[in-house]
Amino acid sequence: MSDHSCDSVVITCIDFRFQDYINKWIAENFPVRSFDRVALAGGVFDSDYVFKQVEISKRLHHIKKVVLINHEDCGAYGEAGTAEKHAEDLQNAAAKIKEQYPDLEIKAYCLLLDGTFKSIP
Ligand SMILES: [Zn+2]
Repeated sequence: MSDHSCDSVVITCIDFRFQDYINKWIAENFPVRSFDRVALAGGVFDSDYVFKQVEISKRLHHIKKVVLINHEDCGAYGEAGTAEKHAEDLQNAAAKIKEQYPDLEIKAYCLLLDGTFKSIP
């Protein structure tokens, strides 16, 4: 097996309404062939599954950075998906990853319906 690396893993929801925003944002912020990409319903909603993907991406591709993107009006969250809930889940997922992999840089965003990437501290 060849040894190959990339810089980042980008994790997003599957929702088709946001893919053009995400594609554009990625194209503006990441060099081509520099990232793994994961799409799963709810973004970080299932944080165990997200964690497994990060683990694999790190092991196989030696990533340095994790980008977590949830979005406004997410069907996987339904009524529970308030701005506060998304921020909380993103922060919890980031903390869980950071605990296991302190060397990884983690960025979290909530993507709004108008295409704005709201950074979650
Ligand atoms: Zn969604």
